[in-house]
Amino acid sequence: MIKEAQRILKDIFGYDDFRPLQKEVIENVLKKKDTLCIMPTGSGKSLCYQIPALLFDGLTIVVSPLISLMEDQVKQLEALGVEALMLNSSLSTNEYQNNIQLIRQSKVRLLYLAPETLLMERTLALLESQKVASFIIDEAHCISEWGHDFRPEYRRLMDIRKRFPEAVCLALTATATQRVQQDIQKSLRFDKSASFVASFNRENLFLEIKHKSQSAQQTLDFLARFPDQSGIIYCLSRKQVDEMAEFLQDEGYSVQPYHAGLSPEVRQQNQASFIRDDTQIMVATIAFGMGINKPNVRFVLHYDLPSNIESYYQQIGRAGRDGLRADCLFLFGYGDIRKIKYFIGQKNESEQVVAHTQLNALVGLAETDDCRRIPLLTYFGETYNDVNCGMCDNCLAEDQTSRDVTIPAQQFLSCVKHSEQIFGAGQIIDILRGSKSQKVKKFGHQELSTYGIGKDFSKTEWFYLSRQFVQKGLLIQDMEHGSLKLTAKAWEVLRGNQNISARLEERQEKRAQPKTEQPYDSSLFELLRQLRKTLADDSNVPPYVVFPDKTLIEMAIYFPQSEVAMLQLHGVGKVKFVRYGTSFIQSIAEYCQTNQLKEKPKDRTHGKITSLTKTIGTPRHQIVGEKFNSGSTILVLSKEFKVQKNTILDHLYRYSAEGNALRTTSDFLELSQLSSTTQKEVCKALEQHGTITLRPVFEALGQEISYQELKIIRLHFLANEQKNT
Ligand code: ADP
Ligand code: ZN
Repeated sequence: MIKEAQRILKDIFGYDDFRPLQKEVIENVLKKKDTLCIMPTGSGKSLCYQIPALLFDGLTIVVSPLISLMEDQVKQLEALGVEALMLNSSLSTNEYQNNIQLIRQSKVRLLYLAPETLLMERTLALLESQKVASFIIDEAHCISEWGHDFRPEYRRLMDIRKRFPEAVCLALTATATQRVQQDIQKSLRFDKSASFVASFNRENLFLEIKHKSQSAQQTLDFLARFPDQSGIIYCLSRKQVDEMAEFLQDEGYSVQPYHAGLSPEVRQQNQASFIRDDTQIMVATIAFGMGINKPNVRFVLHYDLPSNIESYYQQIGRAGRDGLRADCLFLFGYGDIRKIKYFIGQKNESEQVVAHTQLNALVGLAETDDCRRIPLLTYFGETYNDVNCGMCDNCLAEDQTSRDVTIPAQQFLSCVKHSEQIFGAGQIIDILRGSKSQKVKKFGHQELSTYGIGKDFSKTEWFYLSRQFVQKGLLIQDMEHGSLKLTAKAWEVLRGNQNISARLEERQEKRAQPKTEQPYDSSLFELLRQLRKTLADDSNVPPYVVFPDKTLIEMAIYFPQSEVAMLQLHGVGKVKFVRYGTSFIQSIAEYCQTNQLKEKPKDRTHGKITSLTKTIGTPRHQIVGEKFNSGSTILVLSKEFKVQKNTILDHLYRYSAEGNALRTTSDFLELSQLSSTTQKEVCKALEQHGTITLRPVFEALGQEISYQELKIIRLHFLANEQKNT
């Protein structure tokens, strides 16, 4: 039987090998043993019942709680030529009756149902008249009252299942918490040997947690890494979602908001637009994501704190379902913790204890110097043993030797002491650097002995040091007010009994090297992506239903131009080939002819494709940089790429920062509104303070010239500087 399963895997789904545990689960189900399958999102749970459904004689019933997920599954199965249907409240009376007719005529392989629909006596009667081969409980965590989406109807499913004694039962879930897992196991009362629990390590997710500072710029820098690729940005409040969406729209990005304050129609519309690749970025509250199955989400940005590790894991889990690399950045701000603390304060006492423990676990994840996967997987009761995961910021960080910072530590701690331990790092740093701010004057801090003694370090360096002082247990940060307080250890340092060493700069990442990657033709990929979009729109399905990204990448590597060659590729089954194969072959053939390229045989032992981001061809800033250097003006480029001039400037800066010379031109100065004298002053300040961060320049010029202007002059400065060297 398992041989047959392997054949279906290739013929229908177009995949070469099973993923971990798929084979074991399928074998068990084919032996008609009731089975529980716990595997993370994106690991391929659906196949575990879809393949048996195609091998069994009879109907497979799939109970699923979300209509959008059912629709998605049915569409994908239809595209593969499998007879799949659904029964739920979203259908018109006609469609409903029509589907019932098809079930009566035994023309259906897989039937997706909402639990409420299944529990109706007339549905049960209809199904009892059929031969039911398997009974699938998808999203089985809905059985558990401990889970986040408990559904009372799910409790009744085990009784219902008894009405189909011939059918084998398979329950599936991506629940990572042990408590819920145990609860499901208990509720189902399946044989112990029938549980398959996979690791919750999602290897293809790159995890990165950064301290939140200049969050708008951090967001733009992150997004610049994913031109035209799908992603989600999570914010805490509706207001923030709206603001962020607007900000990004102004920056020229294709984005839509999603939160509970929007009407259901608008939400539906925005979600559909995202799924169909009409919108690149979704800015959302946690309300978004439950019912979506989009496999090519390439990044998730947490702009705000998630409520706990579980929701963080669930939200990043929406990225990279297709198994290709996806990037997850979490901007971690201490100010955000205060907000969360405030919310926690509103809860009752026992809830507060739980919430605080959860928050601490999250802070631990953010502050660790170890592999991010250690605290993450430990939280779910798994032990992670790899020395270096190669897919998180900490594992890729250069090891920077720390240096002795006992003196600055003493200065900082002493300043905390003299200002009565009631201020946060910002004020302490202002005092140390001799700032003339209002707040310094208001509290008379210019009189303190520590005023102005710390000018050797920049603000950024001080902030970085202060966070390390907290991590090293010299200071405790009051979660409510953000004020810093000295610990016993701090007194030891102040008394000169203990030395302290720390790093002075945020650790630099070595450029992430995806484990294996193959170069592919990015222009052809783009062409095929457009073709896919047209075909998808024509048949009213999301693009990924036509082919996943990985298939298009393989086309852009091997240039297949025959049926045999096409069928070798990932995700190309027989039916899909019949539907779409010729269109793709035609495009590829034309492209090959124009560019004098030849088909290459696909060798299955070849390196696996794991990364899209890093190989997606030339990054946008480089294309912009090269076009600029060959004569395109900023205005022309902003029209060509349909983005604002600022975005082009950002691209050019990045291009230059990577060591490329920029052509000299009067373009930059023409964009500037400053007088030529002021422009010269800015250049002088840039020469003095460097071009990497603009803050010192901004400060040196009396905080009077906007960053926008500084960015323009910086490019002019760089272009001329590079010419002169
Ligand atoms: P889950 O339900 O566990 O979140 P899905 O069943 O939606 O995951 O599968 C995620 C993606 O992986 C889908 O696009 C699916 O077609 C693909 N997939 C599943 N099994 C395999 C396999 N053996 N080889 C390649 N791709 C697979
Ligand atoms: Zn790691």
